Amino acid sequence: MSADIIDGKAFAAKLRGRVGEAAGAFAEAAGRPAGLAVVLVGEDPASAVYVRSKGKATVAAGMASFEHRLPADTDQATLEALVDQLNADPAVDGILVQLPLPRHLDADAVLLRIDPDKDVDGFHPVNAGRLASGLPGFVPCTPLGCLMLLRDRLGDLSGLEAVVIGRSNIVGKPMAALLTADSATVTLAHSRTRDLPGHVGRADIVVAAVGRPNFVRGEWLKPGATVIDVGINRVEGGLVGDVDFASAVEVAGAITPVPGGVGPMTIAVLLRNTLVAAHRRAGVPLDE
Ligand code: NDP
Repeated sequence: MSADIIDGKAFAAKLRGRVGEAAGAFAEAAGRPAGLAVVLVGEDPASAVYVRSKGKATVAAGMASFEHRLPADTDQATLEALVDQLNADPAVDGILVQLPLPRHLDADAVLLRIDPDKDVDGFHPVNAGRLASGLPGFVPCTPLGCLMLLRDRLGDLSGLEAVVIGRSNIVGKPMAALLTADSATVTLAHSRTRDLPGHVGRADIVVAAVGRPNFVRGEWLKPGATVIDVGINRVEGGLVGDVDFASAVEVAGAITPVPGGVGPMTIAVLLRNTLVAAHRRAGVPLDE
C-alpha cells in the first residue's frame, strides 16, 4: 500500500487565488492595497531568493510590496529605526524581517520592535502569547500552513494523537499550540525525548520539524498516519525532508513530499496573514 501524497503546491495555489480575490475587494473597500514590507540585511543568497519570491507573490496577489535592502554592515540602531518607520507607515500592514540577520545584529531585539499587529510572521512574543492563550493574533506561517493541510485531509482533528518533533519557536511550539487548540492530544518531542519511535508509533498525526535529513523512519509510523514533513535539507542530489520518504510512503495514509508539500504553503499563508492584518487595521470585516 502506498500513501496518498498531500499536494501542498496545489493547495497553496488555491489559497493564493482566494487571497488575491479578497485583496482586490480590500483595495476597493479601503481605497488602497494591502501592503507588506520585507527587510533584508546583507547578501545571503538563500535569503535574497526568499525575499524576491515573497515580493513577487505579494504583487501577484494584488498587494503592495515594499522591499528594503540594507548593507551587511548595517548597525542595530539603523535597522530599528527602519522598523519604527514601517510601524508608523499607514500603507504598511505587515512587516517581515528576513532571518537570519548578520551575526553582529540582535535579531530578538529587532523582532520585539515590530508592532505586534503588523507582525505577519507571528514571531513577536506578544503573538506567541496570544496563540498560547487562544486570543486572535498572528500565527507563524509554516505551522499554520501545516494545520491547513491537516484539516483539509482529516477534517476534525479532535481526539487524534499528534506527535510534533522539534520545539522551535518558529515551527514546533506554535504547531503544538495549534493542534492543542484543535483538540488533538499533543506530544511535543525534541532531542531529549526518550523512545521517540515509541511516541511516533502511537500518533495519528506526525509533524517533523527537526532539520535532519530522512530522520523519521517508515518503521516508526502507525499504519495510516498522516505525516507532515516540514524539513528542508539540502543533500547531494537535491532537497530532502526530515522524513525518510521511501519507507514512510509504504506505511503512512498520507504524506507531504519535499519539495512540493509544506514549502509552498509558507508564502501563501504569509499573504493570507498580511490580508488579515490589513482588514484588522482598516476595520474592514474579512470573510474567511
Ligand atoms: P530548529 O533547528 O530551530 O529546531 C530543531 C528541533 O529539532 C529542536 O527542537 C531540536 O531539539 C529537535 N531535534 C534535533 N535533533 C533531534 C533528535 N535527534 N530527536 C528529536 N528532536 C530533535 O529548526 P526549525 O524548527 O527552524 O526547522 C526545522 C526544519 O524545518 C528544518 O529542516 C528547516 O529547514 C525546516 N523549515 C521549513 C520551513 C518551510 O517553509 N517549509 C520553514 C521553517 C523551517 P532541541 O530543542 O532539544 O535542540
